[in-house]
Amino acid sequence: MGPLIDRFGRPVTGVRISVNSTSSCNLHCIFCHREGEGRGHEVEMTPEEIERIARVLKGFSVTKVKLTGGEPTVRDDILEIVERLGRLGLDDLSMTTNGYRMAELARELKDAGLKRVNLSLHSTYPDRYRFITGGGDYERAIRAIKASLDAGFFPVKLNVVVLKGVNDDELERFIEFARELGAGDALILQFIELQMVGSAIGGFYRKYHHDLKEYEAVLKRRAVKDVERTLHRRHQYKLPNGVWVEIVRPMHNSIFCMNDTRIRITHDGKFKPCLFRNDNLVDFLGAMRGGASDEELAERFKLAVRIREPFFKPLSLPSSSDELSASRAS
Ligand code: SAM
Repeated sequence: MGPLIDRFGRPVTGVRISVNSTSSCNLHCIFCHREGEGRGHEVEMTPEEIERIARVLKGFSVTKVKLTGGEPTVRDDILEIVERLGRLGLDDLSMTTNGYRMAELARELKDAGLKRVNLSLHSTYPDRYRFITGGGDYERAIRAIKASLDAGFFPVKLNVVVLKGVNDDELERFIEFARELGAGDALILQFIELQMVGSAIGGFYRKYHHDLKEYEAVLKRRAVKDVERTLHRRHQYKLPNGVWVEIVRPMHNSIFCMNDTRIRITHDGKFKPCLFRNDNLVDFLGAMRGGASDEELAERFKLAVRIREPFFKPLSLPSSSDELSASRAS
C-alpha cells in the first residue's frame, strides 16, 4: 500500500517517536520544545508496543522512523527498541540524542540497525554548552560525536538550535569545528531556528529567536553544492572547505509545513499530527492496551492523517478557524 495522503496533498512517509518524556531527560535545555508535549504523564510505551505501532504504520509505507524523547539513551531498553525496529526492514532508522550514553552504546546501536544519528551540540564553548543545556557535560557530548562517527553512522548530524545573543556569534566557529573533525560527507551541521513551543514561548521566544533567513542566503552564495531535501524542502549546502550545513527554518514558513511528511508519536502513545498543537491528538496506546486489533490501530492512524493540517499555511489556502496560536501548545 502507498502512503496515506492528507487533505493538503502531503504524503506521510515518516514518524518521529518520543520514547520517553522530557521530564525524564538528563539535560534541561533552556529552549526545549518538549516535542510539543505537555508535562506529566509518566506512561511510556514498551519496546513491544513501539515495534507494533511501527509495524502497523509500515503497512502504510511509513518507512522512516526517528526516535527522540526526552532522551532516548536514558532508557535502559533503548537497544531492544532499536533491535526490534531494526528487524522491520525500514528505509531509515535514526535517533535524536544529546549523546548521554552514546560513547558506550554507539556500536551496539549501529549493529542493531540504527542508521544515523542527530546529536545535539548547541555550543562549541564548554561554559555556554553547560548554560544552554542546564548543566550538560561538553566533553561527554564531544565523545558522543566521535563515537558516533567511529561507529559508522551516516550521516552524523549536529543539531544546533541558534539563539540570539547566546550562540549566534559562533556559526562560523561551528563550521571550523566541523572541518577539524575531518569527517567529510559523514557529518552535517544542522542550524535550527528556535521554534515557539514548550519553554520557548512568549518573552523567551522574542528574546532569543534568531531568523536564519539572511544567513542562509549567505551560505547559498558560498556553497559549491546546494541540495534540496523532500522533507520540508530544507536545503543542505556544501561549503568550499568540504563542510555540509543544513538550515532548518520552520517558523512562519508555509513551504516547510506544506512539505512536512512526518507524523509524531508522543511518549505516552498518541499520534500527534503537529508539533504546535495538542488539540488533535489521537490516542492509540490506550486502545492497544485495551486489546485493539491492528486494524483498529490502523483506523486511528488514518484518523490522525485525516485531521492533519499545516500550521503555517500559504496565503492561498483558507486559514483554519481552529488554528491555534503557537503559545497554546506549551
Ligand atoms: N534529548 C535529545 C536531544 O537533546 O537531542 C532529543 C530530544 S530534543 C527535544 C530533540 C531536538 O529538538 C534537539 O535537537 C533539540 O535541539 C531540538 N529542539 C528542542 N527545542 C527546540 C526549540 N524550541 N526550537 C527548535 N528546536 C528545538
